[in-house]
Amino acid sequence: MSTHLQTFFSGQWRDGSGTLYSTEYPATGEVVAQLHASTAQDVDEAVRFAEAARHQPDWAKLMPHQRAAILHKMAALIREKSEELAALQRLDNGKPVKECRALVASAAGTFQYFAAVCETFESSVTPQRGDFLTMSLYQPLGVVGAITPWNSPIASEAQKIAPALAAGCAVVIKPAEITPRMAIEFARIGEQAGLPQGILSVLPGKGSVVGDALVKHPLIKRIAFTGGTNVGLGIAELAAKKLMPVSLELGGKSPTIVCADADLDHAVAGVIYGIFSSSGESCVAGSRAFVHASVYEEFKRRLLAQTAKLRVADPALESTHMGPLISKSHRESVERYVALALEEGGKLLCGGKRPAGDAGYYYEPTIFEGLPNTSRTAQEEIFGPVLCLLPWESEEDLIAQANDNDYGLACGIWSQDYKTALRLGSAITAGTVWVNTYKLFSISTPFTGYKMSGLGREKGAASIMEYMMQKSFYWGTNAQPLPWSQS
Ligand code: NAD
Repeated sequence: MSTHLQTFFSGQWRDGSGTLYSTEYPATGEVVAQLHASTAQDVDEAVRFAEAARHQPDWAKLMPHQRAAILHKMAALIREKSEELAALQRLDNGKPVKECRALVASAAGTFQYFAAVCETFESSVTPQRGDFLTMSLYQPLGVVGAITPWNSPIASEAQKIAPALAAGCAVVIKPAEITPRMAIEFARIGEQAGLPQGILSVLPGKGSVVGDALVKHPLIKRIAFTGGTNVGLGIAELAAKKLMPVSLELGGKSPTIVCADADLDHAVAGVIYGIFSSSGESCVAGSRAFVHASVYEEFKRRLLAQTAKLRVADPALESTHMGPLISKSHRESVERYVALALEEGGKLLCGGKRPAGDAGYYYEPTIFEGLPNTSRTAQEEIFGPVLCLLPWESEEDLIAQANDNDYGLACGIWSQDYKTALRLGSAITAGTVWVNTYKLFSISTPFTGYKMSGLGREKGAASIMEYMMQKSFYWGTNAQPLPWSQS
């Protein structure tokens, strides 16, 4: 059954002014929602409304503890509605319900965390270096734009909305065209929690239309972007023309390293989770597994045995490990990479096809060996359940290969020796290193990508400052007039 979705901007529930489009449930291919896309004119209207709203006393004059109370209420409402939100998230992108629940819980935690940051944030009096006192004040940047991808909307949107509201900004969010529901639900929750009209708006639609207009709008003072590297680069270029700060959370091709002394069962469980959870549609997917030659065959045996047990099935089932891929076209893109891997001489160890008899966009967990790290399959982000196994012998060569990639998002290390893990983790160019674990996240820990994986940070208490302008005050304490004109 298809639902008509309205969106929320300029303080009203309404349709976008653009054409009607549909979204489909990736598990079946059925149309589940219809909505009108937003237009560049909608962007202009929403941003101007937000700019006026943020100066109104019901937002601008709130004390931090009052803004924090709204954020706490948003966290509580997210928790109250968690089953409903998880189900809507699943309908949008086909993620297994258990993963959706975890994302909803993380979104609630994000609002709670930034409520605390908002209430406890301190300005600073800097050390005295003359006849004056200096002080930093932090003021909200203004209206900020958030642009998000389809793979984990509720979590990536919460990570942008919560710190921006905590800082006192107004937010206009542009969700991925095909996954608009979480952003729309955030607008509903914000309204119920007492956010003044115009402080949070949602403009679904095409990136090249709505996203582009948002980035270029003169009243947009920052863009928080999560998505692919090519789109991120285009945004960075436009932002440079306005001297506008951005944070760019981009793609990845992360190495996981299995050392000779690793606990192999832990390593197998971690590598499988790292690449196949979310069907590999994860920026931090551990898609290149470098396994020490001395344990390679045994690791491979256990990996294949464990992978064979994964259940690729209906995402509504609690027992499902992997749901469908996001769309027909994305599955075709993954299939093209699998064909390329074979052309490049890769040996297919498992998967490499659609499961039999399923409607929807399912794809089997797929493992290749025999491909060099320089192959396109091992270099490019596939964003699907495709793992390359690569043996290694010397640490020097391992580090060179692991770092020989445009991306630098994350890295996993499986070793029982903390010195080895620290040495390798320090040498790999990646924003996040997991040792004897993978894909764990904490809102209090900053997240960033190196190289083509990103710019700027999200999460962590300091990220509230990304949405603020620092202003320096000098307070003269001179007993005498300034001497320059006095002599
Ligand atoms: P995408 O870059 O195609 O789209 C992301 C968002 O940008 C969407 O809302 C899209 O509509 C918008 N957009 C597209 N063109 C635009 C333009 N010209 N101007 C402004 N906005 C535009 O990415 P996707 O396919 O939705 O998501 C997958 C990508 O996201 C992968 O590369 C993945 O690694 C990355 N990702 C990164 C992280 C991270 O934290 N580093 C997290 C999740 C996903």
